[in-house]
Amino acid sequence: MAHRRVHGLAAVVTGITLTLSAACGGKPAAAPWSPASAGAAPGASAVATPSLDASPSPSPSPAAPSPTPSRAPTKAPTTKPTPEKAKYTLQRTTGSAGVALTFDDGPHATWTPKVLDALKARGVKATFCLVGTQAKAYPQLVRRIVAEGHTLCNHSWNHEFKLGTWSEAAIRANMQRTNDAIHAAVPGAPIRYFRHPGGNWTAAAVKVSRSLGMSPLHWTVDPQDWRRPAASTIASRVVKNTRAGGVVLLHDAGGDRANTLAALPTIISGLRGKYRLIRLPDTL
Ligand SMILES: [Zn+2]
Repeated sequence: MAHRRVHGLAAVVTGITLTLSAACGGKPAAAPWSPASAGAAPGASAVATPSLDASPSPSPSPAAPSPTPSRAPTKAPTTKPTPEKAKYTLQRTTGSAGVALTFDDGPHATWTPKVLDALKARGVKATFCLVGTQAKAYPQLVRRIVAEGHTLCNHSWNHEFKLGTWSEAAIRANMQRTNDAIHAAVPGAPIRYFRHPGGNWTAAAVKVSRSLGMSPLHWTVDPQDWRRPAASTIASRVVKNTRAGGVVLLHDAGGDRANTLAALPTIISGLRGKYRLIRLPDTL
């Protein structure tokens, strides 16, 4: 198990309030992520408009200034330096009317092959956000993901929830190490996306991912499959909340993914009634 929710942030996205509490991420202060137990999911089951991008500020807005103390009118205001307002833009949509299924935290020896089988049987291409240690452990699965036409996404070396708080050099090294592990399995394969563990984006993480040619990929629909709700719940959350251009967050690792797997046929058939299911493009 595992996920912790590191922050809880409320963001208003195009009129919809959405609570993000650590997306691929989990509960507060729980055990660290391990390959056998990763997680994800923002608090809200999802739903943001598929349109854009304005990113939630990683920290809550400062409270309104308190009344000025009556003393010291002659002194310059002693306001603390405002923490730099991190402004950044995340990718939250596919960029077209198509809908993308994304699978985080793998590859996993048990669940990834089953997810790949389910996608293949239905002719669906998706996007896999890989953890570096997992890619290193299961290069044959990385090869299979690419051979079957899916898109690659970097999901950090070892699912470091606080990666974005590191120095830019350390963030870069982590992302590069992950890309190198993926490329050890599939030399030259494009890795055009990065997804921060827990959705704990920072301006630095966004900046470094872009500098490495990766778009900071968030999502629009999170059924919280890592919490292991019933398959029918996962499927109905996805089908109900997806709009054109949506990016759906799912997991093929980080714990028992039987319910996610069982939900896939209904997710696919439900979405296909209205949308084209696409892999995210490798060209940015
Ligand atoms: Zn994750």
